[in-house]
Amino acid sequence: MKRIEEIKPLLESPKKVVITMHQKPDADAMGSSLALFHYLKQKGHDVTVISPTNFPEFLEWMPGAKEVLDFESAQEKALKALEGIELLFCLDFNALYRTKSMEPYLAALSCIKVLIDHHLEPQPDFDYGVSDTTAASTAQLVYETIYLLGDEKYINEEMAQCIYAGTMTDTGSFRFASTSARVHRMVADLFDRGLKHEIIHQAIYDNFLENRLRFLGHSLLNRMEVYYEYNTAMIAIPYTDLKRFDLQTGDTEGVVNYLLSIQGIKLAALIIDRHQEVKLSFRSKGDVDVNTFARKYFDGGGHFHAAGGHSADSLEKTVQRFISAIKENEEILQ
Ligand code: 5GP
Ligand code: MN
Repeated sequence: MKRIEEIKPLLESPKKVVITMHQKPDADAMGSSLALFHYLKQKGHDVTVISPTNFPEFLEWMPGAKEVLDFESAQEKALKALEGIELLFCLDFNALYRTKSMEPYLAALSCIKVLIDHHLEPQPDFDYGVSDTTAASTAQLVYETIYLLGDEKYINEEMAQCIYAGTMTDTGSFRFASTSARVHRMVADLFDRGLKHEIIHQAIYDNFLENRLRFLGHSLLNRMEVYYEYNTAMIAIPYTDLKRFDLQTGDTEGVVNYLLSIQGIKLAALIIDRHQEVKLSFRSKGDVDVNTFARKYFDGGGHFHAAGGHSADSLEKTVQRFISAIKENEEILQ
């Protein structure tokens, strides 16, 4: 993979470009993709952003979000946008399977593929890119890429909103270990470019419906198990709960973090039966590496302290497998 700044000559003349991200995108996947979208449009390119699936309603405020194509509900339009592209940008994921039903279409493209990502162990499918696991967010890498290309004059208020949102959520509001001086310097620069941070916190964190808060209460009260001998806490959500509380995309985001607020807990797991498959979300503290854990037991991956995976077994069976896995890792968890 060639270094990201080497794409500079390719951006000098107008190109047909697609930007895509991982399925069920979070604020970083959307924020980084839209920041790049606004930059490339200003440079005169024909750019389309495609999300493999729908995205949470609380991201609809993002400048450009209304123009994002959902591959599942607008497949014909999305395939048309992919036709004859010269450049494909893949943001905030490290393996093509994370684009779900888009994967075979992306794999078949013969265009130049560019990766911008901060997850561990990227697949070697890219011509150019940056894969920096020390970056707090992919949005930060988009910001830094634009600087590397000498184009920082294009970073406007709209882009600042997108970059800030992605970095705010991926750093747990600027508290995780990844929140470096480099992050704060970027944020200061975004303020200088017109960033209004307060409305972003409200749009993302104070924008839930009543049912989401009731679901959270129910999950903590009735679905949480704590295994003190393994410093682990888990919430397992049956599909019936998703229906009962009428949960929408994004409503379960952040729930797993509450588990880490229990004194001594080093590993937190949220296991959700989504009917077609069981999804697992892991968070950890200290030297507990959930990227390796998710990879080894649940066909997943991610970051050292935040990772995910999936399972084709039933919820009950997946929970049993999770409990066996923490027993196997007893030494690391103590
Ligand atoms: P979340 O728990 O918020 O869904 O995901 C946490 C982190 O793990 C994210 O950075 C996400 O991209 C990554 N991740 C989640 N699920 C999977 C998966 O099935 N495979 C891989 N490789 N990464 C995942
Ligand atoms: Mn990210």
